[in-house]
Amino acid sequence: MGLYQTEGVVLHKRPAGEYDKTVVLLTESDGLVHALVKGALRPGSKLGPLTEPLSWGLFELFRGKTQDRVTGCELRSSFPRISESYSRLVYAAYLCELEMLFSSQRDPDPEAFWFFVSTLKALETADDCWSPARRGEIGILEFAGLFPVFEECVACGKEVPGEAMFSPELGGILCPKCAGTLELSAGEIYPVSPGSRKTVLHLRNSALADVHRVNAQGSVRDEVGKLLRRYIAYVLGSRPKSAVLVEKLEERAGPRSRR
Ligand SMILES: [Zn+2]
Repeated sequence: MGLYQTEGVVLHKRPAGEYDKTVVLLTESDGLVHALVKGALRPGSKLGPLTEPLSWGLFELFRGKTQDRVTGCELRSSFPRISESYSRLVYAAYLCELEMLFSSQRDPDPEAFWFFVSTLKALETADDCWSPARRGEIGILEFAGLFPVFEECVACGKEVPGEAMFSPELGGILCPKCAGTLELSAGEIYPVSPGSRKTVLHLRNSALADVHRVNAQGSVRDEVGKLLRRYIAYVLGSRPKSAVLVEKLEERAGPRSRR
């Protein structure tokens, strides 16, 4: 118990009683933190506007027996340019939900925290959200230790130069031979092209500041997005709620054709 300070980003809020709200923070020092903001919904509340989703700042919290309480916040940014664009907002909400699903309470991972802040920064300045959003998904999977194997066949370890199959259950790609023999035990498998695998690895090896340069086109763009979402749904056992809006957005945008 007692006061503590940490860098944090508000991922989610919900009303609590008439005047309070509960927020979920991703913090540098404590991983996920569920905390009460007393009086946040009262007119003139100072803390209310500082603890809206996507608020990033130095938070002061009181660690209670059953629940933490936000007692102060020195706001660094609320990423205002994300709120200016519908697609940026959809992707930001999706990444916030992924953080809530993949991070753990009281399990600090400072590197994962700063990666998330950088993802929001990249999203804020992106004309095209596709690359930073994919980089964000990949990073969240990596920090959770769940990034699939794309470099080689997950069963025999051999390189797969051509077409491969992807098995969410085995957590990686299968060469045609292993896909044939493991058909019944590898769970649901689906094809993944060499171009998509290359793009996923290129994204993973790109810093967030440079990720806008990874510009997937056409069917690769479509395939990578679907592959990652299907894999994430498999790992979680259900599809994240906000994935529906991401799908609609990407379907509407369609695969970008090569000029
Ligand atoms: Zn194999």
